[in-house]
Amino acid sequence: MAERGQLSHAYILAGPQEAAHRRALELAQAMLCSAPGARPCGVCRDCRKVQRGVHPDLTILCRLSDGKGKLKREIYVDQIRELAAGASILPGEAERKVYLIQDAGMMNAAAQNALLKLLEEPPSFVCLILEAESADLLLETVRSRCVLEHVRGEETAPPPEARELAERFLDAAAARSRLTLLGIANAKGDLSGAELLDFTAAARGLLTDMLCGRLPARQMDRGRLLRLYGLMERAEEYLRFNVSVRHVWGMLSAEGASE
Ligand SMILES: [Zn+2]
Repeated sequence: MAERGQLSHAYILAGPQEAAHRRALELAQAMLCSAPGARPCGVCRDCRKVQRGVHPDLTILCRLSDGKGKLKREIYVDQIRELAAGASILPGEAERKVYLIQDAGMMNAAAQNALLKLLEEPPSFVCLILEAESADLLLETVRSRCVLEHVRGEETAPPPEARELAERFLDAAAARSRLTLLGIANAKGDLSGAELLDFTAAARGLLTDMLCGRLPARQMDRGRLLRLYGLMERAEEYLRFNVSVRHVWGMLSAEGASE
């Protein structure tokens, strides 16, 4: 873990969401820790406040949700402008102010360009931490101004069956073939919840690769890829709330063709 003297003012943490967020909080602690020795100490008042997400000099920005709790597809330019406006105000308690942007890869181009201005001339006390599933989701101009750190998740890659199913699903979604999607839903209705989560994780992985240009996007534009990504997140949310696998497949097959 880097100590305060060696910390940069901007980081990209690239990797699976949870692992990237854990690492982001650790970095934020290192930046805001008030212990005399090695930082972060993990136990001082500042470290504990960061861990609980209540430190006054830590701002966590994420995608907004609509009235029904569904996350918006993108991080919008107004959110970044508001962040940048607040960034010029001196820290309240610590020596620094930390801005943590979750799902930074979901910033649209206007938002990334607004952030670029802040990255080019940040106030001396400001630190920015961007979490992204892949650094390739960020503009080169943004990437070049940050220290890139790859974060490895504990989760293993989804099993090959899950990936194969995700490929078939996305092929059918790309072709807007409701019938094929219904066929998949009927054939896979008896999967366990864990198997369905393997499928959604595999589909999100493929969609991330398509968004970055690492895989052909099957003629789908960025907006459509993001909507399908959001659909997979919604399926995961449903499963967490114990909605039945069959019901989730119903939603996936209906909206996979229309989203
Ligand atoms: Zn501490």
